[in-house]
Amino acid sequence: EKEAALAAAVPPPDYPTIFDKIINKEIPSKVVFEDEKVLAFRDISPQAPTHIIIIPKVKDGLTGLSKAEERHTEILGHLLYTAKLIAKQEGLEDGFRIVINDGPSGCQSVYHIHVHLLGGRQMNWPPG
Ligand code: ADP
Repeated sequence: EKEAALAAAVPPPDYPTIFDKIINKEIPSKVVFEDEKVLAFRDISPQAPTHIIIIPKVKDGLTGLSKAEERHTEILGHLLYTAKLIAKQEGLEDGFRIVINDGPSGCQSVYHIHVHLLGGRQMNWPPG
């Protein structure tokens, strides 16, 4: 029963998410960085003065980090490098936090892999 509930909570790889609508500009977002591979926009429910979501424009089965395959290593590196560029652009010289939530226990709610970039306040450890 618990397994069925978990399976139901994790959608199939090609299931569209709200991030597809953001990529396709069907719903508005505050874009802070864009190139041919990734898009970064401000989180609608910011948990810090700077809270940015960085996503691949093509999901390619990457609903979350747990679904990563060898072919995804380049985009995964690109997502992290983009986070570094945006941290600089946002003036986060004192530091920042990168988060990738995965699956139900990781509190993932959107099944299109994304990197959270948080900054502008003191972070705490451990995270909740
Ligand atoms: P959680 O919701 O627990 O943070 P995720 O790691 O899946 O789980 O994060 C999804 C993030 O996407 C959330 O921080 C949420 O506020 C953000 N989000 C959802 N919809 C939008 C939207 N339309 N525009 C910007 N950010 C969004």
